[in-house]
Amino acid sequence: MSWCGSQGGAKIEKQLSRRGFFGAASGAAVTSSLGSWADLSPFGELSPGVRAADQPAGRIIDMHVHFDEKRPGFLDDLLRLADRMNLTACLLTPFAHRRVVADAAKQHPRQIVPFGFVDLDAPDVVRQVEELHALGFRGLGELEFVKKPYNDPSYFPAYELANRYGWLVLFHTGIVLRKNFDEPEDVASGRMRPIHLEEVARRFPKITVVGAHCGNPEYEWAAEIARWNPNVFFDLSGSTLTKMHGRLAEFQRIFWWSALDWSVKTPDNDPSAFVKLVFGSDSDLSGVESVANQYRALFDACDVPERTRKMIMGGTLAKLLALPE
Ligand SMILES: [Zn+2]
Repeated sequence: MSWCGSQGGAKIEKQLSRRGFFGAASGAAVTSSLGSWADLSPFGELSPGVRAADQPAGRIIDMHVHFDEKRPGFLDDLLRLADRMNLTACLLTPFAHRRVVADAAKQHPRQIVPFGFVDLDAPDVVRQVEELHALGFRGLGELEFVKKPYNDPSYFPAYELANRYGWLVLFHTGIVLRKNFDEPEDVASGRMRPIHLEEVARRFPKITVVGAHCGNPEYEWAAEIARWNPNVFFDLSGSTLTKMHGRLAEFQRIFWWSALDWSVKTPDNDPSAFVKLVFGSDSDLSGVESVANQYRALFDACDVPERTRKMIMGGTLAKLLALPE
């Protein structure tokens, strides 16, 4: 699920209201107990439902924060959240808003890492990617709503550039929301299957491919592709951790190769299969903490070692992006 894109206002509103619906239905107590953003003031007390033990011990790097052009003061709110949670946001930015985010990232390099959302089908996508690079962007994403599968050769020129820049590229994978029930849409989840990322990762080995949503529901394909490709990772944002909350231990059968002396390089030579995950929230700002707690519940259910938890929550991305301390 994702709410980025360059669609018109009415569509965005609709997406946001649907997101709100899923948030309310998710049983994520922290999110639903919050009345408003004001409750998340960095100077305030812990919100109801948030225990001190839930507060992060280490730095969090969030691969999946959408720049919300509709929300006045979004960047200020993000900076406050970053301070409160010790968080760095990979900020997925529609091309139209590239300059304001490039400037914010230059002023706040510890809090904001700029990623450019481009439409892979746009006739001038290569020029857009070059401009993003010139502005100091660090990668692309979230790529989605493609007209062809991700491995279509017409997308290779954009990937070629990302490969040259050694960028991270975040791809939506799996089921995607339907924005409009009343009009025809040229959108299909099947074009965004995780299996298509395998070819991108192999043809363009200097790209770090990050698949959003772990291919929901094709988790097995996602994990197997990550297992064989050192430059492939997935986030678990979206509805998965809500859907699976009563059976999180099942992920041990999907990420099954821990400590098997696998010959594929991993960050920090971590032997846990779970090191192929990175933290991503894909939430509005008031929900980031709730998603972090869902990740922690997964770690507990699957006995993910402490060292690997740190890599997932930030260590891997800090390394890949060479972020300042
Ligand atoms: Zn998405």
